[in-house]
Amino acid sequence: MTGKTHLVIGVMFTVILSEYFKLSLTTGALVACALASLLPDIDHPKSFINQYILPFKNKLTKTTFYITLGVVIYLINSFYFNYTYFKILSFFSVLIGFSTHRNGLTHSLFGFICFVSLFGYAAILYGFRECIIPFSLGYIMHLIADMFTSKGIPIMYPFKKKKFKMPFTFKVGSWLGNIIESAIILTFLVYVAWRLPIIITNYK
Ligand SMILES: [Zn+2]
Repeated sequence: MTGKTHLVIGVMFTVILSEYFKLSLTTGALVACALASLLPDIDHPKSFINQYILPFKNKLTKTTFYITLGVVIYLINSFYFNYTYFKILSFFSVLIGFSTHRNGLTHSLFGFICFVSLFGYAAILYGFRECIIPFSLGYIMHLIADMFTSKGIPIMYPFKKKKFKMPFTFKVGSWLGNIIESAIILTFLVYVAWRLPIIITNYK
């Protein structure tokens, strides 16, 4: 599933819920939700960071890179700065290092709990608590959406490697898949055009 579709599903779902459950949707909360909806694919070979920023494609090099980066940030920070912000960043990096797309951590409930706890910790510490629920929703919607694809996801990783999927699935990149993804994006655009003025006035 493309990043665009994941982004749309996460944000749309959160906006819809915010209307019924009175979630406060600040710009920051929407950004957190958008980032979280892309986060599980951070190790995807086609994700932005891996395609354009990291100069290597090899899985093992990537794992080593993220884990080493995390450890280096952690050590430099403990010796010289001792900022909690850097500590959290280093844990994020190590977590990403431990995951490989669809085979690991980011697409599991365990990964969800790790990332949400880490984010929640930072959010409470730095005073952006209102972003925790939108972040969690963006993340969990990514996992649910991937369960509708024919590959499924290892939701029970690292306890079970079996990939779980919904009874109805589609193949990413197939004509049916493209139609479904386009329909989701179109629905989102219509929904936003229809509801956003109301949502914005509600929160003013
Ligand atoms: Zn994914």
